[in-house]
Amino acid sequence: MNIGNESHARFDVAIVGGGLVGASLTCALASTPLRVALIEAVPFKSESQPSYTERMLALSHGTTQILSAIGVWPEVIARDATPIESIHISDLGHSGFTRLSHTDADVDALGYIVPARVLGQALMARMDNTEAEFICPGQVTGISYDENCAVLAVQTNNGETAVTCRLVVLADGGRSPAREWLGIKTVSRDYGQTAILTTVTPERDHHNKAYERFTATGPLALLPTSGNRYAVVWTTTSSQAPALMGLADSEFLASLQARFGYRAGNLRNLGARKAYPLSLVRVPNPTARRAVVIGNAAHTIHPVSGQGFNLGLRDVAVLAEVLNNAVRNGDDIGAISVLGPYADWRRADTRATITFTDGLIRLFCNESLPLAFLRGVGMVAVDVFPSLKRSLLRRTMGLAGRVPQLGRGVPLE
Ligand SMILES: Cc1cc2nc3c(=O)[nH]c(=O)nc-3n(C[C@H](O)[C@H](O)[C@H](O)COP(=O)(O)OP(=O)(O)OC[C@H]3O[C@@H](n4cnc5c(N)ncnc54)[C@H](O)[C@@H]3O)c2cc1C
Repeated sequence: MNIGNESHARFDVAIVGGGLVGASLTCALASTPLRVALIEAVPFKSESQPSYTERMLALSHGTTQILSAIGVWPEVIARDATPIESIHISDLGHSGFTRLSHTDADVDALGYIVPARVLGQALMARMDNTEAEFICPGQVTGISYDENCAVLAVQTNNGETAVTCRLVVLADGGRSPAREWLGIKTVSRDYGQTAILTTVTPERDHHNKAYERFTATGPLALLPTSGNRYAVVWTTTSSQAPALMGLADSEFLASLQARFGYRAGNLRNLGARKAYPLSLVRVPNPTARRAVVIGNAAHTIHPVSGQGFNLGLRDVAVLAEVLNNAVRNGDDIGAISVLGPYADWRRADTRATITFTDGLIRLFCNESLPLAFLRGVGMVAVDVFPSLKRSLLRRTMGLAGRVPQLGRGVPLE
């Protein structure tokens, strides 16, 4: 491999953060000639890994393609993945609804509901079979530069060590302090909303049908999971959330039922509740000197329509392809001539996904009657016109715009 005059860099790529996105990039780069280090603060296979919780993730069709191409999807399917065959979208208190079906898109499933823990375990299993070096537990505490490489200061159980690389990939999550060290600017806005996550059992078989019900205080989603359970994502105002969290289980179930209605019959067996305050964080330019930022560190978005990890995984697919091409051409993978085209490729998808999720919240979390009328017309139009439905499906299935090789299910060589 040609590493030019940077032969003193121990690694080609150092990934900071082994959450779902950093771990996915490690798997995606396994088939390339790049020497990869993954630095993660929390010990591997630890119960406290913050990215691999019991939270349910809606994975788009495009995401399943990428996970297949990087050798992770068979393990996920074998463990726990529930197909979404249809989605019912409605607006509480107003007429008009839209139905999306896997038959509209000519696929077996519009997406899958997978516990983040299961996806994490499948990524771990795949990473065990890569040549990547794991510096874990290792907390990156600073980034500096040598002439031709970046130098990461890493705090490990054996003291501080220096890791040199040609490219740093920040996949260290929405609160990434490393962005600031590198002068990567962020733009953020508090939604004033909190998502309450829990699970329930519906009276009737869920038939792999998901619901997204918009209300003035935030969207309410019921997502089909294994064992005929629904994962509930109830978004409400941050001022109302503490009261909902404080309710007894029976009171919470009654409030949920009142908000959702009886489409799935009576809802029972409430699971544990967890609250997530929501804000939008985006990075106008995801690159810096010998560095690029991906995943939640580059864009933390509203969970409406479950797009966050899907968007981060598309960062992974494009970055892996760009780096693989660069290393095979003998280019310096940390050069701006490589990172610039990566940023250009990701701009349209990132912007469109943020506009889509943010636009849904602005449009639906609004009591204005003219807007309610427009929403009703819009949903009926999507329901009736196949071209509108296809366009919505392409966006939510992660197939809009220029699709990278991994997104077509084709492994990198
Ligand atoms: C309520 C809710 C529901 C959601 N639902 C969906 C959904 O249905 N579908 C979907 O696609 N997405 C969904 N998301 C979004 C999804 O959870 C995130 O996009 C995804 O988890 C981000 O992963 P990440 O790896 O970028 O970041 P993180 O999960 O935050 O991982 C960052 C990692 O970096 C490590 N780290 C941090 N700093 C350092 C350091 N200095 N040194 C070393 N390691 C470090 C951390 O320990 C952590 O492991 C949802 C999010 C929320 C809040």
